Amino acid sequence: MVVRMRSTRSHRNNRRSHFALAPPRLSACVSCGKPRLSHILCPHCGAYRGRTIVNMQARIEKKLKKRVEKEKAAR
Ligand SMILES: [Zn+2]
Repeated sequence: MVVRMRSTRSHRNNRRSHFALAPPRLSACVSCGKPRLSHILCPHCGAYRGRTIVNMQARIEKKLKKRVEKEKAAR
């Protein structure tokens, strides 16, 4: 296929006017009230549909412990 028509700045920009990404839809968590993505475990309290699935406090402590051990090993 051969391109016959010059695409002007105006035509190009008009086409691109629909390319913007929409921001993610956030809803408030039932347990902690913080904004979270729908259909996904709450990253703040680890609850889904009002039930606690993951203990986030334990997860944070585990992460901290791992970081401390990594720093120890580096020295
Ligand atoms: Zn939450």
